[in-house]
Amino acid sequence: MEKEKKINSLDVAVKQVDIAAKHLNLNPGLVEKVKQTKRELTVHFPVKMDDGRIEIFTGFRIQHNTTRGPAKGGIRYHPDVDLDEVRALSMWMTWKTAVVNIPFGGAKGGVQCDPGAMSRQEVENMTRRYIWEIAMMIGPDRDIPAPDVNTNPQVMAWIMDTYSMLKGYSVPGVVTGKPLELGGSLGRHEATGKGVVVVAQEAANQILGFSLEGAKVAVQGCGNVGGIAAQYFERAGAKVIAISDMYGGVFNPKGLDVQRVLDCRNQYACILDRKTPNWDEISNRELLELECDILVPAAIENQITHQNAPKIKAKMIVEGANGPTTNEADDILRDRGIVVVPDILANAGGVTVSYFEWVQNLQELLWTEEEISDRLTRIMKRGFAEILGVSRRDKVDLRTAALILGIGRVVKASELRGIYP
Ligand code: GLU
Repeated sequence: MEKEKKINSLDVAVKQVDIAAKHLNLNPGLVEKVKQTKRELTVHFPVKMDDGRIEIFTGFRIQHNTTRGPAKGGIRYHPDVDLDEVRALSMWMTWKTAVVNIPFGGAKGGVQCDPGAMSRQEVENMTRRYIWEIAMMIGPDRDIPAPDVNTNPQVMAWIMDTYSMLKGYSVPGVVTGKPLELGGSLGRHEATGKGVVVVAQEAANQILGFSLEGAKVAVQGCGNVGGIAAQYFERAGAKVIAISDMYGGVFNPKGLDVQRVLDCRNQYACILDRKTPNWDEISNRELLELECDILVPAAIENQITHQNAPKIKAKMIVEGANGPTTNEADDILRDRGIVVVPDILANAGGVTVSYFEWVQNLQELLWTEEEISDRLTRIMKRGFAEILGVSRRDKVDLRTAALILGIGRVVKASELRGIYP
């Protein structure tokens, strides 16, 4: 995407609360409460770099809400991470865990950095020091981090180790998305991408009356979410016609060989590094405006705005990313009859299997891949059915329905607990 004035994700998230609150008869004080985060920590910390220099990094951990259970949400490493972005992401985690009805609140963390320009050792040093700085806030019974943009199972392993060293004993339940060898769960790595495809299938069948077989799908992003969703779409018989990374994408109207694209990216670190006659180059902007049945934004926030929403040709958008659509774009898409399956349901597969991982850690259980997959599919289908029900009952789009469901559950829990003292 070309650089435009940066849209503030927190403004988007707060406006969503106002939109949903109009449909709910809630105590205005409690609505104000959920527009704010509960607890915020900003840390500045030194890291020894490979060349002997000491560099100062800035990181955040924010708990938006813990009314329904421990705070839960990933940690991202990105140069653009800032307080308002982490606040918005933590708020979306609260609604997400409520929509799929798992007993967590919402949190998020991030460090301003460019991990692509750092060595593995530097990323490890930075991770360990950041976790040490936020250790007083996290724990298996209070706040459980997980992977997000540019963090992975190895980073989760360093988090688990650092926290365990501080405690003096191993605490696998402090973080999810760990490697299998350290108490990670089968199916966690695929969970978000798989969940995207489960809800895409439900929405295509039940709202628009088409099946994934032969459907044309364009995917923005090819990380943990986009890359895996593309594979599951292909397995379901869909034609994945475009995939991109942060530098640009590849396009073939007859369908790409997804595995080949992902292998190429793994090998060359960039989708565009190696062209074959079967692929055309495409920009991220062009990808979003392609003629297709399903568009999956699975990269970062604010990709679909008032500028490109009028040009989107997909029948349906399934939000693999958190916050890819602005409020203005939502209005335009709704008026144009384009179905948007919102992030707080569409990408909830990741946190759902994080929940399974945490339960297995606390109870020292090991579930099979089949058990995980069945439970995930059931929860995603139930979430979809519930938001479709609210959307039909209240005559609202799916995002508003999901927010009504999520915010409604959180505020109801708040009312039951009451205000202390
Ligand atoms: N970072 C993922 C998300 O945005 C997963 C969070 C988790 O598993 O806690 O949903």
